[in-house]
Amino acid sequence: DEPAAEAAVPQAGDPSLVLLRRIGRADPASLDDYRANGGYAALRRAFDLGPAGVIREVLESGLVGRGGAAFPTGRKWEATARQPDHPHYLVCNADESEPGTFKDRVIMEGDPYALVEAMTVAAYAVGCPKGFIYLRGEYPRALRRLELAIATARSRGFLGDDILGHGFSFDIEIRRGAGAYICGEETAIFNSIEGHRGEPRTKPPFPVEKGLFGKPTVVNNVETLVNVLPILTMGAPAYAAVGTPSSTGTKLFCLSGSVHRPGIYELPFGATLRDLLELAGGATGGGLRAVLLGGAAGAFVRADELDVPLTFEGTRAAGATLGSGVVLVLDDTVDMARILLRIAEFFRDESCGQCVPCRVGTVRQEEALHRISRRPPGADSADDLTLLRDVGRAMRDASICGLGQTAWNAVESAIDRLGVFSPSEAK
Ligand code: NAD
Ligand code: SF4
Repeated sequence: DEPAAEAAVPQAGDPSLVLLRRIGRADPASLDDYRANGGYAALRRAFDLGPAGVIREVLESGLVGRGGAAFPTGRKWEATARQPDHPHYLVCNADESEPGTFKDRVIMEGDPYALVEAMTVAAYAVGCPKGFIYLRGEYPRALRRLELAIATARSRGFLGDDILGHGFSFDIEIRRGAGAYICGEETAIFNSIEGHRGEPRTKPPFPVEKGLFGKPTVVNNVETLVNVLPILTMGAPAYAAVGTPSSTGTKLFCLSGSVHRPGIYELPFGATLRDLLELAGGATGGGLRAVLLGGAAGAFVRADELDVPLTFEGTRAAGATLGSGVVLVLDDTVDMARILLRIAEFFRDESCGQCVPCRVGTVRQEEALHRISRRPPGADSADDLTLLRDVGRAMRDASICGLGQTAWNAVESAIDRLGVFSPSEAK
């Protein structure tokens, strides 16, 4: 296991904040304020480096995707940039809909020019004339602020034709989702933008080869993109020195549930879950029952596992996942069976129904949990627990996309790690 880094824990207003440093300080409506607080320094450096130099910096920074899957960003950019088929497209996945995730919202509402600048840098590196922000429909304030930022940037020469006189042209269009969780899956986004049903496509081919309108496409999450700004302004070596060798930089964590000070926290990778919970004032109620890491598709960790380092490799080694940074805290007053039922309902509701393991499996999972939770405490549920495992395995092994593949994760971890439904848990 990676040792936990000596994490200096930044406080609100702390100069060591990287991604949140302008939020609450600079006026999100003002391009001048953005520039006075370091804005557009990264794009200027990008023009000095040239497209290949920008990709090299991103590769050397070690940046991996912050949407949840942690794929190396530089590899995605490099693979798309070398495709002979044109045009190349850039899609910013802003359909943040993992339950408990609200970090991208904070960036888009509080620092919208940062996303516009970061997309311009990405498009320059990869050779994209056009970018789309696929925005969660339930984020109206983010929509207004991004629309203003895009229009202002365009009117001042930071978007559109011949940006800042460098001969590079790029523009951004916003497309709004309409409430479906599955439309955050990258290939469902393509279908949605193209006017088809928002259903995932099978991969491969990966978007870097065949994405939006069948063309090579880079898809990056909002938080991933804004990390490119400090990479260019600090330089890749300084950026990579923060965090751990396999999880570089800082991460935004979304604290919610039974915690005294919920909200978004920025920490260097390598801080422990205990550091984070202490920063947020600890659990409410009489004590901590568990923490759901990574959202509905994630896994529970127990109160005696709080020293897990918050890195992609550290959580994986502990049998959990960092995912998109969800830290949902549950105290000892929480009814775990109800939480699991709610998660199962969510997946049953959000399954697009395209493939059988997920369409049928999410229904069977919810039914089995209903039966178990209706029985008196201590009653024998062995058959339903076996059924849950069989169905869970089929969903994980045979579903087309991440929704079905992860729909059993949280339920499985509650049964195996927390002992939910075990006879000793019966009251
Ligand atoms: P994935 O592992 O299939 O892919 C991750 C990214 O890497 C994709 O962009 C994919 O195209 C790219 N990729 C993978 N292999 C590649 C290859 N060989 N060549 C080129 N590109 C390649 O994961 P996914 O299904 O895209 O995403 C799953 C994650 O999404 C989960 O970890 C989950 O936590 C997260 N998620 C996040 C939210 C949210 O609101 N942020 C919502 C739902 C799910
Ligand atoms: Fe649709 Fe579920 Fe299949 Fe994904 S796994 S394509 S959400 S039915």
